[in-house]
Amino acid sequence: MSVQTDSINHSEIIHVTTRSVSCDGGVGPLGHPKVYLRIPGEQVACPYCSRIFILDGEGADESH
Ligand SMILES: [Zn+2]
Repeated sequence: MSVQTDSINHSEIIHVTTRSVSCDGGVGPLGHPKVYLRIPGEQVACPYCSRIFILDGEGADESH
C-alpha cells in the first residue's frame, strides 16, 4: 500500500456512511479480531485500536 500518513498514531479517523461498521485494525501492530461496531450518534471509537469512525450524513440505513 502507498497510503501517505503524516504521523502515525492510534487515532486514525475513518469516515463512513452507515451506522454499522466493522474494524479489524488492518495489518500491523494495531490489527485485532474483526469486531462490529454501531455508531450511536455521530461517531464511535474502536475499543481495540482506537480508530474513530465518523458517520457522514444521516445514516442512510436507518429509518428515523
Ligand atoms: Zn479497530
